[in-house]
Amino acid sequence: MGMVVKCTFCGTSEVVYVRRYSGETLCRRCFLENMVERVKATISKYELLNPFDRIAVAVSGGKDSLSLLKILVRIERDFPRASLVAITVDEGIPLYRDEAVENAVRFISELGVEHRVVSFKELYGFTLTEVVESNVSRSLNLQPCTICGILRRRALTVAAKECGASVIATAHTLDDIVQTYLMNILRGDTRLTPIGVRREVPGVIPRIAPFRLIPEREIVLYAYFSKIPFQTYTCPYTELSMRDKIRSFLTEYEELFPGTLYTALSSFEKMFARSSQEDGSFCAICGEPTSRKICRACEIIELVSSRIKK
Ligand SMILES: [Zn+2]
Ligand SMILES: [Zn+2]
Repeated sequence: MGMVVKCTFCGTSEVVYVRRYSGETLCRRCFLENMVERVKATISKYELLNPFDRIAVAVSGGKDSLSLLKILVRIERDFPRASLVAITVDEGIPLYRDEAVENAVRFISELGVEHRVVSFKELYGFTLTEVVESNVSRSLNLQPCTICGILRRRALTVAAKECGASVIATAHTLDDIVQTYLMNILRGDTRLTPIGVRREVPGVIPRIAPFRLIPEREIVLYAYFSKIPFQTYTCPYTELSMRDKIRSFLTEYEELFPGTLYTALSSFEKMFARSSQEDGSFCAICGEPTSRKICRACEIIELVSSRIKK
């Protein structure tokens, strides 16, 4: 007779998840409850939020961001002087983003959270499809995903400022952050600062990642159990990227050696603490911090605009 596996927290035998890196086994109810507790613990460990924050939550409409919003709504109840606003950036990608924006609009109104949708078209005068067609990707030697990420980040900053936000929360997970650190190191980028940890720079809205200690697979499970919609369309501009390679390598490694992602995160961040440097220079056009004279976002916007208005 085999041993019956029981929930570490409540003792029922309906276990739905084995957390291999900690040895805990969880039932559905305890898994959902524990997720909220872990996000709370992450927020207090890194002092990500304060009681008076106006929190702009980046909600793309994907499962990660919808999960984050749902959890932050729960946590925010304990902070009556804080407020939430969801921001969705519409890049203008047919089907893929249309579906995500629809999911976001429905879900956010059900939660009763204030919502602002900002589009590339209204902000920059062009959609991501037009960016791809203008071929700037080639001229700048940047992948469409990289360009999209830079423009999305800018759109989020602009919308967050308009909404009077004091902090921007994004749904980056433990996996996302470790992937980014590793990619930066492999590209030879040594100006590394921790991602998703609150840093106050005058004139800049800090960005936080309340999921920075939560593995992606647990967010997937959380979304699934919470009946959060999953997207059916994938982005048509996705190419097999360096990130995909790193992701599959890290996933395989975590599978073989549970806990690897946590070890990697803390090793990287110990290294950053030693090499931490802030060059404190700002873009000549938009005034956002950058290590260049003109930031990437401004460079891309100017180049695409000049090609579209011919
Ligand atoms: Zn339980
Ligand atoms: Zn700029």
